[in-house]
Amino acid sequence: MVCFANRLRHNKGGASCGRRDTALRKRHARTPLFAQAPTTRPGVRVVTPSDQPSSIDHLRALVGFDTVSHRSNLALVDYLEMTLSGLGARIERIPNETGDKANLIASFGPEDVPGYILSGHTDVVPVDGQAWSTDPFTLTERDGKLFGRGATDMKGFLACCLARAPQMAAARLNAPLHLVFSYDEEVGCLGVRDVIDWIGEWAVPPLGCFVGEPTGMDIVTSHKAKRAFEASVTGSPGHSSRAPYFVNAVDYAAEFLVELRRLGREIEETGARDPLFDVPFTTTHVGVIHGGEALNIVPEHCRFEFEFRALPNEDVDAMADHMQRFVDTALLPRMQAVSANASFRLESTIAYPGLDSAPEHEIVILAKRLAGRNDHRKVAYGTEGGRFSKTGGIPTVVCGPGDIDRAHKADEFITRNELSACEAFIDRLISHASR
Ligand SMILES: [Zn+2]
Repeated sequence: MVCFANRLRHNKGGASCGRRDTALRKRHARTPLFAQAPTTRPGVRVVTPSDQPSSIDHLRALVGFDTVSHRSNLALVDYLEMTLSGLGARIERIPNETGDKANLIASFGPEDVPGYILSGHTDVVPVDGQAWSTDPFTLTERDGKLFGRGATDMKGFLACCLARAPQMAAARLNAPLHLVFSYDEEVGCLGVRDVIDWIGEWAVPPLGCFVGEPTGMDIVTSHKAKRAFEASVTGSPGHSSRAPYFVNAVDYAAEFLVELRRLGREIEETGARDPLFDVPFTTTHVGVIHGGEALNIVPEHCRFEFEFRALPNEDVDAMADHMQRFVDTALLPRMQAVSANASFRLESTIAYPGLDSAPEHEIVILAKRLAGRNDHRKVAYGTEGGRFSKTGGIPTVVCGPGDIDRAHKADEFITRNELSACEAFIDRLISHASR
């Protein structure tokens, strides 16, 4: 692996590796290699490496950073960088366009041989409207449960990585271990895209990646793909008593959604199935709809959001194309026959690929050995694993502490035993990489 900080210093005149990489270099060049001292919420103790902190110490600090996706994660990233650079890790920081968020890669072990990635996201979902019995940004222990936003999804995993980092630093690693921390996972696995481009520039590609999303340390080999859209329908307003002379945006949105529902039923009845998934087929879904002002006005606007959750090898683009064709051929001509300014626009908002690692792949076999089990399963929710695998070509398994059922809810928690199980997994990975 070539440290990008070195490339930046020694390879300024080097050939461009594509526009995206050039953009990354520019962004990186604006960012100091070493961050300033981290800041946290008042009362949160910043743990230094000499403290030999436990995973719970780290989790307490990590939960204290309010990293809801729309906020900056830089204070948390500073904490990661300070902790890991203090242990001798090679640090690569990849900022976003506006400089208010960053991904971080911390590597231990040799640079010129392939190794393993442990990957987790730094952002969390909001707490607005949720009835928490504790302060969500203060880790609180009760009956052996550690409550806090992100405790399970997925600061618990991050805390385990940090707690075992001194062991990574001390080990005689034959294969390097790369800790990858990303931003904006919860809003479409966005930050990790730059990480994958970045890793694509490494001299040797990694052997595999473990994404530590909560699986109860089960081995998850597959998850579904997601495509989400926002639809904006513009009709023409008028008095409802003369409705046929105007374009009713809600009516046309309804026709679209009936077709989406029909497509969903067709896929359920005749499409591909995989019984290892909880919902064993591709699904369609509408989650939000707004339209109309008053009953006696033909509605001018309607906005709605819908999604496909597809089995990893299904052609989800074909489904989206079908709905676009339906708009172009069945809806728009009738709308514009009444009002030339009528429109029906679909905008893609989230798109990430599914994960589908073969059970016989080395990374799956290794993950099972490290977790001490022989079975595997598949999940409907998405992770960054799809991007690592499908976009980056990096063999990937999802395996992490905690239960996904507790994620995104009030009183999210993780247990001490769950953290211990994850640390044991990482310890076995360190041993495996040291052989
Ligand atoms: Zn997550």
